[in-house]
Amino acid sequence: MKNQLKLLLLATAMNCFAFSFSDAQDDEAKWWRGNLHTHSLWSDGDDFPEMIAKWYVDHDYNFLALTDHNVLSVGNRWMDLAAIEKRAGKTALEKYIAEFGEDWVERRDKPLAKAKASSNPGDQSKPPASQVRLRPLSEFRGKFEVADKFLMIQAEEISDRSENRPIHMNAMNLQSVISPVGGKTVVEAINNNLRAVQEQADQNGEPIMVHLNHPNFGWAVTAEELAKVTNEKFFELYNGHPSINHLGDKTRPGVEKMWDICNTLRISEMKTAPMFGLATDDSHNYHTQSGNKARSGRGWIMVRANQLNAESLIGAINQGEFYSSSGVELESVKFDQGTGKLSLEIKPQTGQTFRTSFIGTMADYDRSAQIQLDADGKPIRATRIYSKDVGKEFKISDSLRPEYQMTGNELFVRAVVTSSRQHRDPSFKNQKEQAWTQPVVWTKTEKE
Ligand SMILES: [Zn+2]
Ligand SMILES: [Zn+2]
Repeated sequence: MKNQLKLLLLATAMNCFAFSFSDAQDDEAKWWRGNLHTHSLWSDGDDFPEMIAKWYVDHDYNFLALTDHNVLSVGNRWMDLAAIEKRAGKTALEKYIAEFGEDWVERRDKPLAKAKASSNPGDQSKPPASQVRLRPLSEFRGKFEVADKFLMIQAEEISDRSENRPIHMNAMNLQSVISPVGGKTVVEAINNNLRAVQEQADQNGEPIMVHLNHPNFGWAVTAEELAKVTNEKFFELYNGHPSINHLGDKTRPGVEKMWDICNTLRISEMKTAPMFGLATDDSHNYHTQSGNKARSGRGWIMVRANQLNAESLIGAINQGEFYSSSGVELESVKFDQGTGKLSLEIKPQTGQTFRTSFIGTMADYDRSAQIQLDADGKPIRATRIYSKDVGKEFKISDSLRPEYQMTGNELFVRAVVTSSRQHRDPSFKNQKEQAWTQPVVWTKTEKE
């Protein structure tokens, strides 16, 4: 305790930061599994929200955020059956009725004025279009929410654009919808939207968590821009949508490498805390198990919190008390602030082996960084090329209890555990199941 206080004082004096990480883990705390990125018919997903919620309940999740584009599932919304069938196939409504019953599923004929019947009053041959009601969250959450078992969090994917790039940010625990604010640059747009979210949080006294989505989708956000938006504490280090360029390309790094570049810049140059990384589904497609579709069950977070409610979960996530997973399960993640030891306990699985890489950047890293050029030698809008010192593998372990002892010279260290097992439903080629812990920072203190 004394040691921790000393560290905190030292860190404060250095205008630095310290985490009260896992050595302060509460005995009451439990692991809760959740997905914070999901789409339904309320925007561009292809199923009814209740069907999606049921899937997550049935697959042992504890919390779920439906995050439709620029909309909350509130109010009275009817959708043409033809539009539903066009997107989701002929069986979507059948499946919905089979699951929840005729009494639950509300249907009507499209009101005449909207069906443009008046424009051709003589035509009686066509029956009016059939519509199905999209139920709001307030009506269906009670079907799924169970204390200490399952929670739904009201959320939105704020879907903005700047510099002709998609800027998407998920805001969790909203009380009302937030319209994208925009901005002249990518950085400005991210900051403007963060400010709008903060205003709502301050107004309502409710915590809101916002994470930046899929930075490589549309090559929207570079690692330097990620570093620069220091009010953003979270981003998607893994998003299960197959079109988000997880691995990067010839001129752009993959998302995991961007994370390390961002955190190296944040800690060494901006003297601020590292970004935390989430895994999410970003699911849109619920009716096919084949093809290049965005399905459920690919990425999630495990949060260590005392209670299953939005406040407790967001509080724990803010403290870095969570890890991200695409299949690997951890029994514990501990970081001892006194000794600087990071230790993991991996849940054993029959027939699988696990390799853990401890990755980070040393304080004396080679800071050279080159601008990416195109074939004509013109600079392109991409993350710079950094030295091998940035996001370096410090140690590999095949143990089920891998450990890393910090020397005090690291800017940060994080662990990624990779299973020998192929991902059940890969979003990129040769994907193996993984788990990612959050970066930890440590300053060595002199012994008394
Ligand atoms: Zn998005
Ligand atoms: Zn999305």
